[in-house]
Amino acid sequence: MTKKSFVIVFSLALAIILCGAGPGMSASKTQYYTIGTGGVTGVYYPTGGAISRIVNAKKNEYKMRLTVESTGGSVYNVNAIMSGDLDFGIVQSDRQYQAISGLAEWKDKGPQKGLKAVFSIHPESITLLAAVDAGIKELKDLKGKHVNIGNPGSGQRQNSIDALTAVGINFENDIKAEGLKAAEAPGVLLDGRIDALFYTVGHPSGAFKEATAGTRKVQFVPIVLPDSFYAKFPYYARSVVPISFYPNAGNKEDVPSFGVKATFVTHSRVPAEDVYHVVKEIFENFESFKKLHPAYSILTKESMLTGLSAPLHPGAEKYYKEAGLLK
Ligand code: GLU
Repeated sequence: MTKKSFVIVFSLALAIILCGAGPGMSASKTQYYTIGTGGVTGVYYPTGGAISRIVNAKKNEYKMRLTVESTGGSVYNVNAIMSGDLDFGIVQSDRQYQAISGLAEWKDKGPQKGLKAVFSIHPESITLLAAVDAGIKELKDLKGKHVNIGNPGSGQRQNSIDALTAVGINFENDIKAEGLKAAEAPGVLLDGRIDALFYTVGHPSGAFKEATAGTRKVQFVPIVLPDSFYAKFPYYARSVVPISFYPNAGNKEDVPSFGVKATFVTHSRVPAEDVYHVVKEIFENFESFKKLHPAYSILTKESMLTGLSAPLHPGAEKYYKEAGLLK
């Protein structure tokens, strides 16, 4: 080797050592991933916290760290995952279906192809809470009232519109519709500035604890819809709001409604190895995970593979096959 070529080879080797790695050699660097959730008084936000807590216990081994962001909800999360602003997100099962099929909020943009399912989590109910003094006993009593249907970006906004439409209420003309964020709406209801609010959420949630703890008396309003509604929207199922979590509400029994599931999603660009590690940690620490929120009490590993319409991320699929949960 000539002196000149030795200097070149030596400098190259030194550059590689100093930079730590070239493309594809970044294994020694911790990879940060952000999970998009919802408002801080919902269940998505603590769910993001629960997932990161379990997975981050292995952060040194996996060289990966999850962080949680409070967001406007499902629709925002899908869009931010697609644009690369978020890596993971919690999304209602019905919105996941709409996004992958290019319907509703994604009608103009078309199918959101890179969106991948990881697992589903707790059930959520489309929950309608009204001030007792507003005299709202059923959905159609909302006519002429001042109602929070949810911020654009939330999952509940389209759920509220579907429910209202089913009883012949046009949300633009027949009610005074507000687009408040879920974390703000209970305070506004208690202040007397709105009559009712919709929120699609797991139970118990901080939002309804807060909304039922004020001086203005409130009650959950039953949402009873015919079979034709469920035939038109097959991703909705009958559900209840469990009243035991809210002893100060003006109801004595569980309140009928309809529901969806919270699901955990990501993008195909997120490496399979990292998604595999996320799934493995949640499923292998399943009992500890379930203890992190009362809304998870009914979860089984098998149930967490249902309610998904986007294709499974290859990293998730690999784990489910290894664990015998998928053929
Ligand atoms: N389901 C709500 C949404 O998609 C969020 C509920 C929550 O934050 O727990 O916007």
